[in-house]
Amino acid sequence: MEIIRSVEWMKQTARAAESAKHLVGFVPTMGALHEGHLSLVRAAKRQCSPVMVSIFVNPAQFGPGEDLEKYPRNFEKDCALLESLGVEYVFAPEASEIYPAGFRTSVRVEGLSEKFEGRVRPGHFQGVCTVVLKLLEIVRPRFAYFGRKDAQQARIVRQMVSDLNLDTEIVVCPIVRESDGLAMSSRNAYLDPAERRAATVLYRSLDAARRKINSGARAAGEILDAVNSTIASEKLAKLDYAELVDADSFERVDFLRGTCLLLLAARVGSTRLIDNMFIDAARDFSVSL
Ligand code: AMP
Repeated sequence: MEIIRSVEWMKQTARAAESAKHLVGFVPTMGALHEGHLSLVRAAKRQCSPVMVSIFVNPAQFGPGEDLEKYPRNFEKDCALLESLGVEYVFAPEASEIYPAGFRTSVRVEGLSEKFEGRVRPGHFQGVCTVVLKLLEIVRPRFAYFGRKDAQQARIVRQMVSDLNLDTEIVVCPIVRESDGLAMSSRNAYLDPAERRAATVLYRSLDAARRKINSGARAAGEILDAVNSTIASEKLAKLDYAELVDADSFERVDFLRGTCLLLLAARVGSTRLIDNMFIDAARDFSVSL
């Protein structure tokens, strides 16, 4: 496995793979890898060769006062994990390599970026889109893999790729969870033992919504009541938002129809966690958690 630090060398390596007609798969990450990330890498390995993984804690997607400095970093361990999965290239640039002095451009997907996560974290998706566009342009992969854990991010990236006619297909992979249901996240490392136990409330509240749907509930109000009351029962948790939206437009819906997402964000202690579930009304209201 080769570790690449420079944009120029990453570009040359990726162009050589493209010229050789290799099918390049790409997994962008911020490191501190867990099974959620590794599931994306495995999906890439099944479809592509070579697989390139970026490890870059992107300053542009952190707001003032957010956790950029304390964000977990574990480069050696990450590389060992990626090597064990047969990843061919790791792209791990310094921030100054991605944003050299004088950098002035940013990318914004209008509308989708201002709601939910974007409202709570102004500028976040602009930071995400800017770095993802740069990475996709450096690597020019045939497929790039994202997790449904960050459903709004995946939707926005897909929009950007379509709007800008990029030659990359975005693959969105299912959420990987701990055995007690907590969605895996690098930020789970911030939770103390009591908070870690309380954090399962996000999953438990989505599960309560699933049970409502399975027993015939179709109205957003009724489904979200189940979420709100479950979150309220956990003293260490504070709801940020719980919304039922159309999976494509991210507009709120009053009733389940088409494909929907139940989006959830909550604070457990001082750690902000997000989760979601996907509901396919056309397929017998099947629910993916
Ligand atoms: P991050 O390192 O947090 O920027 O995440 C990198 C990629 O991994 C993103 O596409 C995330 O959506 C994805 N990811 C993070 N956690 C999970 C998870 N629990 N299950 C599936 N994908 C995930």
